[in-house]
Amino acid sequence: MAEVLVLVDHVDGVVKKPTLELLTIAKRLGEPSAVFIGAADKGAAVADVVKAYGAEKVYVVDDAEIKGYLVAPKAEALQQVAAAASPAAILIPANGETNEVAGRLAIKLGSGLLVNAVDVTADGVTTQSVFAGNFTVTAKVSTGTPIITVKPNSAAPVESAGAGTVTPVAVTISDAAKTAQIVASQPRQATGRPELTEAAIVVSGGRGTGGDFTAVEALADELGAAVGASRAAVDSGWKPHTFQVGQTGKTVSPQLYVANGISGAIQHRAGMQTSKTIVAVNKDEEAPMFELVDFGVVGDLHTVLPALVEEIKRR
Ligand code: FAD
Repeated sequence: MAEVLVLVDHVDGVVKKPTLELLTIAKRLGEPSAVFIGAADKGAAVADVVKAYGAEKVYVVDDAEIKGYLVAPKAEALQQVAAAASPAAILIPANGETNEVAGRLAIKLGSGLLVNAVDVTADGVTTQSVFAGNFTVTAKVSTGTPIITVKPNSAAPVESAGAGTVTPVAVTISDAAKTAQIVASQPRQATGRPELTEAAIVVSGGRGTGGDFTAVEALADELGAAVGASRAAVDSGWKPHTFQVGQTGKTVSPQLYVANGISGAIQHRAGMQTSKTIVAVNKDEEAPMFELVDFGVVGDLHTVLPALVEEIKRR
């Protein structure tokens, strides 16, 4: 069976959940192999994690020459791993950085590229939301090795034992790829909550909160969710831009999205409408968000959400 490469999403060798989701998707397409670009001495620990989700091989690319630079060296490294593995497809967790890596890789391999997929079938057909969420398209790469970036929460990780054979790959990074150097990087401030784009549950608040996110945050914490916000809430200074969901904010695709006091403008929907289940609380029964929801509650969020939290605690 042909190999399917999955780029490992990690922080200092700690594997993030989207990797496990992509390994699960890779199994539909062939034999999953993980590609870890990081500190070589963390390769074995990474292999221990990914082999439990079906990775037969774990290509370890030491990032000594890569980590000080932006995307181009990663694309070169992946190109060289692909040359060694001749994969049937390459799956990459979608985010701003990796979508660019994927684009550069596609040019190098002369391959078709699909970005921000929310589903990939066994025959390589992807589903994506495009043009600010106005269209949902299915697509399939017709040239070269399909390169597909996949959004977090596109599949539930399924455990499946693989060999996890660590295979070091020595890569050569050209000077041409080292043109954009990282001068400083600041880690995200720890909130104790999951990262917005990766969270399985997102609880968001809009102008309807009136600036008081207490009820939204209490529900988020009860559900182990990330907190999001509409642009109106961000523009009002109630939450920083890192919380914004929508066309000019982050795109999320969680299992559950709870929109509270958010009217459902197209620009907000563009960032959340691929969520698997959508719930809205809004005191206006005519709010456009109700056109999109699986479950809607007409009411004041400051009353409904505390009652919901109480009910969850009671169960
Ligand atoms: P409103 O539209 O004012 O809605 C507030 C809602 O709260 C209303 O439906 C009201 O009934 C309800 N409400 C009020 N009080 C309560 C209460 N106590 N309990 C329950 N419900 C209550 N928006 C984004 O969100 N993300 C983006 O990325 C984004 N990008 C944009 C890009 C462009 C180019 C443009 C032009 C706009 C963009 N917008 C974006 C703005 C977008 O058009 C809307 O203005 C915005 O989403 C509205 O935010 P809101 O729903 O919180 O506020």
